[in-house]
Amino acid sequence: MDKVRVRIAPSPTGDPHVGTAYMALFNLIFARHHKGDFILRIEDTDQSRSKAEYEQNIYKALKWSNISWDEGPDVGGSYGPYRQSERTDIYREYCQKLLDEGKAYKCFATAEELQEMRELSSKLGKRTGYDRRYRNLSTEEIAKRENEGQPYVVRLKVPLTGTCEYIDAIKGPLSCPWADIDDQILLKSDGFPTYHLANVVDDHLMKITHVIRGDEWLSSTPKHVLLYEVFGFTPPTFMHLPLLLGSDGKKLSKRKNPTSIFYYRDSGYLPEAFINFLTLMGYSMQEDKEVYSIDEIIKEFDPKRIGVSGAFFDVKKLDWINQQYIINTVKEEDLWERLQEWIYNETFMQKLMPLCHTRIKTFGEFMDLCHFFFVNKIPHNTQLLCPKKITPQTSAYILQAILWLLEKDDNWDRDSIEKASRNAAELFEVNHKNIIIKLLFASLTGKHQGPPLFDSFVILGKDRARARFLEAIEFLGGISNKKLATFKKLFEAGQCKELVEKES
Ligand code: GLU
Repeated sequence: MDKVRVRIAPSPTGDPHVGTAYMALFNLIFARHHKGDFILRIEDTDQSRSKAEYEQNIYKALKWSNISWDEGPDVGGSYGPYRQSERTDIYREYCQKLLDEGKAYKCFATAEELQEMRELSSKLGKRTGYDRRYRNLSTEEIAKRENEGQPYVVRLKVPLTGTCEYIDAIKGPLSCPWADIDDQILLKSDGFPTYHLANVVDDHLMKITHVIRGDEWLSSTPKHVLLYEVFGFTPPTFMHLPLLLGSDGKKLSKRKNPTSIFYYRDSGYLPEAFINFLTLMGYSMQEDKEVYSIDEIIKEFDPKRIGVSGAFFDVKKLDWINQQYIINTVKEEDLWERLQEWIYNETFMQKLMPLCHTRIKTFGEFMDLCHFFFVNKIPHNTQLLCPKKITPQTSAYILQAILWLLEKDDNWDRDSIEKASRNAAELFEVNHKNIIIKLLFASLTGKHQGPPLFDSFVILGKDRARARFLEAIEFLGGISNKKLATFKKLFEAGQCKELVEKES
């Protein structure tokens, strides 16, 4: 058997997600169990959303989780480059091969045409949205359009009939009618590959033997199976793992839960406990053991013990596991040192001094003033969260709007927070000082006064501050998915005030 080679292929388009660590762990465990290689590849072909800072955060977050890789953009290896934006010539070359062999074609559909096609198919209740109108253009017609400079994408010729059949090593045999699959875009009009093309070409060239990824990619797999076939590559073994689910039974989402790995680091979880918990979400150890080391799972790993359905991301369980690690692995005499490593240290305390210098009558008041920096959950209070008697629902909407405003440029510095809060005051037509600031204060600190708001926000950090907003929204009664969708549209149209009026 070939040497086992597995990979994770995160896209650097946001905060380092717990799902990335979850997937990395199973790939790492599988690789180590089989004495194979574990590769980290950065899939940054979405140029508009990828950022170097997000890529660095992936490394940082995985390293904090004690996850290391054998090959990757930062450590090199024999199959590089490991960053897709540095491999675009390779994808173009492979795409050209498919064009030359008549297995792919240039599609000149305009945005308007595509929109019309989508509308028609949804009316007809079809699963596909593209009617393949450019699939059989003559060579002359293609040349003419190209000479006129018409932009085009390259699409894969998906069979018109029959079914795609393949075996998933966890789920067993799977099949899907080809008629349900659109002629997939391989190369975008900017010359960049889509995920599907780049992913398959790279998995082949990097000699990946097993593709271990989350269930959310299942719908892409038939397209990949077809790509392996048309290229004449041997496909890897596919293993799709159950998704991490939120308490609503839906895919864990940052709308409802803290999903950034940094949130767990900054909230004082031990990395060993965090990764133990994550593996437990997708795997059951023999004798239902729940607390174990990564070496133990590497030793006994058996894919049959991977769960087939989604795994609830149960924070209470995480807390329990973390406590087991504190009791069993941190000696009493080392506890203070660990707490200092976490937050009770010179660097962090010095950050707080300018905030409390003029605000304490005695040293004894320091903790009272600053307690919210040190705790994970603050007690909420409806009265404080609803200044000037605005309704709980309005408060929840305002907090959600501020989150959206901050997420837009993903900038959480002092000025952006202040700007977002002022923007919210305008959008909802409420007083900035008496309503917005008070609401923000209550959400972050659980009190009506304390150190300066915006500085506190920055020190608390984006992930913990975000989590507090989400908790406050929940405390205020939450915003259902349906309401959230309506609100998002109105928010984007600048009509927050109208919504509040309609609902009151
Ligand atoms: N770039 C994809 C992601 O963001 C990779 C999925 C896969 O593993 O194929 O997770």
